[in-house]
Amino acid sequence: MNRCDTSPLLAYHEALEQLTSSVAAVGKVVDKPLLQVRGAVLAESIKSEIDVPGCAMSSMDGYAINTTDLAASGETSLPLSQRIAAGTAGETLASGTAARIFTGAPIPDGADAVIMQEQVDADDHGIRFDSRPTKGNNIRPAGNDIQRGNIILHKGCRLRAQDIGLAASVGLQTLPVYEPVKVGMFFTGDELVEPGQKLGAGKIYDSNRYTLHGLLESMDCEIVDLGLVGDTLAATREAMLRASSLADLVVTTGGVSVGEEDHVRIAIEQLGELRLWRLAIKPGKPLAYGQINETAFIGLPGNPVSVFATFCLFVCPVIQIMQGRDWHQPIALAVSADFDWPKPDSRREFLRARLALDPSGQTVAQIYPNQDSGVLTSTVWADGFVEIGENQTVQAGEPVNYLPFARFFS
Ligand code: AMP
Ligand code: MG
Repeated sequence: MNRCDTSPLLAYHEALEQLTSSVAAVGKVVDKPLLQVRGAVLAESIKSEIDVPGCAMSSMDGYAINTTDLAASGETSLPLSQRIAAGTAGETLASGTAARIFTGAPIPDGADAVIMQEQVDADDHGIRFDSRPTKGNNIRPAGNDIQRGNIILHKGCRLRAQDIGLAASVGLQTLPVYEPVKVGMFFTGDELVEPGQKLGAGKIYDSNRYTLHGLLESMDCEIVDLGLVGDTLAATREAMLRASSLADLVVTTGGVSVGEEDHVRIAIEQLGELRLWRLAIKPGKPLAYGQINETAFIGLPGNPVSVFATFCLFVCPVIQIMQGRDWHQPIALAVSADFDWPKPDSRREFLRARLALDPSGQTVAQIYPNQDSGVLTSTVWADGFVEIGENQTVQAGEPVNYLPFARFFS
């Protein structure tokens, strides 16, 4: 009997720990223009060389005044001495006058508050008001957002729209980012044909290729796609060598069980190092992990639901570490179960689930009625996983951990 059949099941957290501790950042750095960095990982922490805003600014359309000019009580009248629009610099405020001022315009020297235009009666000569602004009202001080010398973005963050906006706000044109991780992939199985082709007897359409493309694109990886590979050792070895010479990580689907047609395992054993795990998780039992020269390798099961789940659980962390990110386990949301899960299983289960509101307005997790690992529809219906621990049962109303899919790729 093959050792894979007799080896004990490996617990989820143990497998994750082994995988994540065995990879490192690829680490090639390149300076890229801001408009090309969304989704890339920042290679250095960034300090601002300026204050933002650079000087005190009005946060309202209104009138800049000096609070010492306010009447002791009742109405104050002040003549207008100047007009300051955004993008222009005013002059020092003449004592006993007000300056017409607009949002984003610099506060003139000598002014210490802005009174909103809604609180003022204005004519050509000046303004009258009886509200009593205090010093600093409606003024954004210099450095209110960012102070010169402060770190604004930390090394290892994956750049989102708002991160790039912040870099622009301190005047940067480019950011140092890591080059995308190159992921080589191929898909094994003589039964597979590509969509668009005729489906002969015993054949199925290849779906894993399309799922993996989308998943890798959402993680901003560079994809090296070698397509379908037949179930022979020679073809599998050739694809494996080619993929490993072109990529930082090779991901395959299928061919990692112990059948005679499962050549991925043997190819890796011949070409590099292999660890073959029987994981104590559902879906997704067999998972191969190894190395060919400098290239990491993960062999996912063939079953499309297992591919989706094991990609989220194991490939995402590996890629994030290779991207130079600070990887940490996605944080689960605690919500109420809207289902019963009465049968304990010795494997940790990742049920395809989604959030809904129950009639009382409480957030609950629902599960797809058919949790068979061959039902890819469950991954489309769902937005996340409910994680059920080993030997755990659940009754409706009890709290469960919900892991949104998006948290794996973010
Ligand atoms: P294997 O791990 O190669 O034994 O495959 C397990 C199951 O997944 C089999 O039913 C395969 O037909 C199916 N499968 C493997 N690769 C794919 C693929 N690329 N797309 C859809 N189903 C697949
Ligand atoms: Mg196969």
